[in-house]
Amino acid sequence: MKYLKLAELYESLSATTKRLEKIEILSKFLKEVNESDREILYLLLGDIYPEYNEKKIGISSQLAIKAISKSTGTAKEKVVKEWKSIGDLGKVAEKLTKNKRQSTLQSNKSLSTEKVLENMKKLPELEGKGTVDKKISLITELLASASPIEALYLTRTLIGDLRIGIQESTIREAMNKAFFKGEASEKIQDAINKTNDLAVVFDLARKGDEKDLGKLHLEIGKPIKVMLAEKAKTIKEGFETVGKPCAIEYKYDGFRLLIHKKGEKVFLFTRRLENVTKQFPEVIDYIKKYVKGDSFILDSEAVGFDKKTKEYKPFQSVSQRIKRKYDIEKIKNELPIEINVFDILYYEGKSLLHEPFKKRTELIRKLIENHPYKIIHSKQIITDDEKKAEAFYKQALKDRQEGVMMKNLDAPYEPGRRVGNMLKIKPEERDLDLVITGGEYGTGKRSGWVSSFILSCYADGKYLEIGKVGTGFKEKEEEGVSFKGLTEKIKPLITEEKGKNVKIKPKIVVSVTYQEIQKSPTYSSGFALRFPRFTALRPDKSPSEATTLKEVEKDFEKQKRNWLYG
Ligand code: AMP
Repeated sequence: MKYLKLAELYESLSATTKRLEKIEILSKFLKEVNESDREILYLLLGDIYPEYNEKKIGISSQLAIKAISKSTGTAKEKVVKEWKSIGDLGKVAEKLTKNKRQSTLQSNKSLSTEKVLENMKKLPELEGKGTVDKKISLITELLASASPIEALYLTRTLIGDLRIGIQESTIREAMNKAFFKGEASEKIQDAINKTNDLAVVFDLARKGDEKDLGKLHLEIGKPIKVMLAEKAKTIKEGFETVGKPCAIEYKYDGFRLLIHKKGEKVFLFTRRLENVTKQFPEVIDYIKKYVKGDSFILDSEAVGFDKKTKEYKPFQSVSQRIKRKYDIEKIKNELPIEINVFDILYYEGKSLLHEPFKKRTELIRKLIENHPYKIIHSKQIITDDEKKAEAFYKQALKDRQEGVMMKNLDAPYEPGRRVGNMLKIKPEERDLDLVITGGEYGTGKRSGWVSSFILSCYADGKYLEIGKVGTGFKEKEEEGVSFKGLTEKIKPLITEEKGKNVKIKPKIVVSVTYQEIQKSPTYSSGFALRFPRFTALRPDKSPSEATTLKEVEKDFEKQKRNWLYG
């Protein structure tokens, strides 16, 4: 397909904010996409591979600036100047391409989506000496034959900031409309859940036969999205939502780990779908020794503990194990973890996603041989008695865990969804997981670093600002997260720069405590945090798993009630 056609689609999608209109436009477009162009489905979300593939385009604004400068024959300083005044690097590429066209009257060598994918796929493969130059030439090749509107969307795709307001669910509904007269939403979602691959689902969906969709299965070694929990304030409210009796489990303060096994092969994934198998060799041992079965997928929480006192430690103390690529043996001994298994999604060739939780949790108890400080099934009671539930909750807190989870016994496992069938209850809600979406460079002793970070919560595919944080950081990197350290992390994610202010791609999640939530017209969420303080990076969470606007509203209401009724 001509890339121009895709760029025009992007343009019409961004021209409306109405979801139904977007679905209509997209469904018409999808009817014209043939089988060999199925990877266009990735491009619709600004990607080149399915979500679980760890290869990402990953081009920084700085690199894109160099390529724009080269492809349009504009001095780099001029590109930067335009960027600072326009803000959006895509728009800069569009403008400069237009200028070039007018001066050279160059005809458009037509760009295809195949060529775009081919060059973009080479980007994450490059390593070693000369990488930067090679990347620039791959990008320049694309930009040089692009028309202004193509240059706009190529640039935005490269820096990971497409801005067309499309989510996976919009694509699902567009497929539904295009091929099933709007009647197969659930079936399509189920196929997406199992494969996590829109192109594969599209391939079958375009034939218009629901039965085909049912042929897709979970695969060992291919991570799927985890089910997420909603919040409840009290045990009583929890029972009202999930029903009686329900399962109540300890809510462990660690990080989520998805465990896949087939024969001798074990794969470990985080909730962000990153493959972390190499980082946790001991877990592979535990799985082979203490879990019965040839093939399965388990959902679990890995919790750190002190190797001498055996006391559980909070998430921050073991978070470094997730990204650690060297000295694995050493850190394994220093920061041991225990695996708490709380769900099973697949067993001996069969998906269990649609089985009721009661059946799944019973199976876990049959399969796992408990070995404390190695692997156990999560501590659980099944009850309809509020007093027993309260006592269990108190015990969880005494045992230094975060709180409890309450689970509906009849509920299926819904990947990627935040569901009311699984609730989390923690005593103090005064901490939020927010996404960094902007920042401001500091002055004086902090000049050169971003010293104030704009925080956003999540709402239906968008990130809405809720405040700024500049405290809780350390002066020196050895002591924790410093301004310098965090500035370096966000630099490649900068999408706009105006004066001291920068906009940042929503990628980094941080935990923040605060004293109070206030209504505020200053921020797009309508709320502001009083005295926010940074407490930890959350590399285990993806931005769409950040605290939602709905949760902020609930916390605000709860706070109001607390003032009124003490
Ligand atoms: P939160 O991170 O505050 O949204 O809480 C939900 C998270 O709690 C899940 O994503 C898991 O990582 C974690 N968790 C800890 N214990 C359990 C449990 N027994 N069942 C489900 N999730 C748990």
